[in-house]
Amino acid sequence: MLDKRAPAREAWPMQDTAMPAPVPLFPAAQDNLRLACERLNIHPDVFEELKAPRETLAATLLIRMDDGSRRALPAWRCRYNDRRGPTKGGIRFHPGVCLDEIQTLAFWMTFKCAVADLPFGGGKGGVCVDTKTLSRTELERVSRAYVEAFAAFIGPDRDILAPDLYTNGIVMAWMADEYASISGRPMPSAFTGKPIAFGGTAGRTDATARGGYYALRHLESAFGLNADNASVIVQGFGNVGYHIAKLLHADGYRIVGVSDSGGAIYDPAGLDPLSVMEHKHLNGGVLGAAGHGQTREMSNPELLEQECDVLVPAALERQITEANCERIAARVVLELANGPVTANAERVLLAAGKNVVPDILANSGGVTVSHLEWVQNRSGFYWDGSRVRDHLKSVIETQTQAIWLVQNQMAVSMREAAYIHGLKRIAESVEARGTEA
Ligand code: GLU
Repeated sequence: MLDKRAPAREAWPMQDTAMPAPVPLFPAAQDNLRLACERLNIHPDVFEELKAPRETLAATLLIRMDDGSRRALPAWRCRYNDRRGPTKGGIRFHPGVCLDEIQTLAFWMTFKCAVADLPFGGGKGGVCVDTKTLSRTELERVSRAYVEAFAAFIGPDRDILAPDLYTNGIVMAWMADEYASISGRPMPSAFTGKPIAFGGTAGRTDATARGGYYALRHLESAFGLNADNASVIVQGFGNVGYHIAKLLHADGYRIVGVSDSGGAIYDPAGLDPLSVMEHKHLNGGVLGAAGHGQTREMSNPELLEQECDVLVPAALERQITEANCERIAARVVLELANGPVTANAERVLLAAGKNVVPDILANSGGVTVSHLEWVQNRSGFYWDGSRVRDHLKSVIETQTQAIWLVQNQMAVSMREAAYIHGLKRIAESVEARGTEA
């Protein structure tokens, strides 16, 4: 029987002295900005404006649990920069969420939206909670409490929310519903990633994966990849990881490894993503699923080091670090997660002649289709899936090509090129409002 007086310690991992505090993400994110500003010789006002978030709100959500006890959950929403339009970004429910992570993710969203040329700035939010410990009704209460706490931040022309780690369409529906009751009228365009029956768009579910897929296929010849004999490892088998595995598998790529939070499976003869997903549905995880040959089980860190051509980290940040980068076998890393490769690790990978397709390009498909959802909600005219996919393909191919050109012309990494490409657009909108000469 749960002692209702016991504090919910797992909700406050940052106070747990047994765990070493992770190195903050934000300083490395700022390095990318500094470097891009130097390369472009940008007006100092722009760096000054972009070096810190415009506003970040912290709140404690007080949640009544099913057993009658109460839990206090730390939560944040950050509006990093809104020069190009209302801030846009997901909300994650994860026990590792902290202020540094949310601000950094909001910074990355600012550049991601600029790279995709969307009329949005960048934002992000999160709740420090392990959804695996929550019932469905508790999850609904957390979702509604989040909107109640941050309602003044949210709005279709101010800050637009979307799913991220451990949030999905139903969470967005609860949030949009709560927002409608607080504001007294429906305002679906303040939330994207909603179920189709609640104002969502066709093509949003696999949009993040599909964007990465279009980018990879566009770069195939530049990377010397051939769909017929290239092998792929995908870390993370949630919405993003599953769909990229499925799309690449359908084109002939051999999916040799996949993983989820429970562990990893590797089979050099190949795995069928559909049957792995069926296994996951029935058994709660990918462990135990069989491929076409001798399928081996291993840990997530071990999987990253296995033989393959393309490695797709599609889970959390900081997966490829100084500790394992020298043992990465893949020739191409496609960052479908946000921030999965640390700056020092990337230097080592690039020096070894490997290619890294940076997150702010590789995973921009999600927010690109979120933009279409926002447009459709505001116009009241709904697109079919093929129109959404055509638009996404054209956006991703155009931006990938532009970044590839910057990379070659300026002799920089693809990540630096993506930052330079995005910064030009942000700087234009800062300067359009006037700077000191
Ligand atoms: N959470 C996704 C991301 O990190 C999607 C954001 C959105 O659609 O606004 O890009």
